[in-house]
Amino acid sequence: MKIQRAVYAGSFDPLTYGHLDIINRGSDLFDELIIAIGENPKKKYLLSVEHRIEILRQVTTERDNVSICSFQGLLVEFCKQKEANIILRGLRAVTDFEFEFQIGLANMDMAPQIETVFLIAEPKHIFISSSLVKEIAMNDGNVERYLPQISRHFLLESLKKE
Ligand code: ADP
Repeated sequence: MKIQRAVYAGSFDPLTYGHLDIINRGSDLFDELIIAIGENPKKKYLLSVEHRIEILRQVTTERDNVSICSFQGLLVEFCKQKEANIILRGLRAVTDFEFEFQIGLANMDMAPQIETVFLIAEPKHIFISSSLVKEIAMNDGNVERYLPQISRHFLLESLKKE
């Protein structure tokens, strides 16, 4: 049987419990899960890629089928390079849908052999996004409920340097 190797890509700036839920469910569903940290030169990130990798490493230590990489360029090219046949995405609400649908169709057009699979966010995570959490933290709000401890640590460290 063919190995089902999925790629879950994102900025993870920082990783939230919403991302972690998708990672855990993806790791249960597929044989292998590659977490791909996007490095888009046009985007400004708060956390360094090293810190984002360290966070992902620490929250997935017990998951043997999960690996972590950073990538630049087209996701479908990264998938081909890694011989992955699935792109895993999380869907929070209808607001995600239009964007995800467009990207999903473009990826399907460029690489029809790669399937995009969407997992519906758990209701308790639906409103959590990295940008909202950053906004709350910048205004001294408590982000404990939204981020694993290690993610919170690096977020607060990065904010101190800002
Ligand atoms: P990007 O910068 O590409 O938007 P993100 O790191 O924000 O990257 O998100 C990566 C993926 O994780 C996307 O598929 C997004 O829908 C999903 N995701 C983000 N937040 C959540 C959440 N709270 N629950 C479920 N999925 C989420």
